[in-house]
Amino acid sequence: MTIPEIKQNLSITTVLAYYGLSVNGNNRMCCPFHNDTKPSMEVYPKSDTVFCFSSNCEAHGKPIDVIDFVMHQEKLSKHEAILKCKSLL
Ligand SMILES: [Zn+2]
Repeated sequence: MTIPEIKQNLSITTVLAYYGLSVNGNNRMCCPFHNDTKPSMEVYPKSDTVFCFSSNCEAHGKPIDVIDFVMHQEKLSKHEAILKCKSLL
């Protein structure tokens, strides 16, 4: 399975649910990658990405796709994150 196939088949909402993370009605949630006191992370179901708006965050400044999310969440290498995403499919 290729990376585009993983991204096509694994939705960000599946990944968030897997980690028990809940999204509010405005598609916002507290960022799991920094100490977030307000929901700084926006979820984009259409592109299956998230974006953290806090400049205090290591994940700030670029869209995070499902593979990057798993990588940050579990502190994995990219390769390990790809394998983990495959296992979630
Ligand atoms: Zn963050």
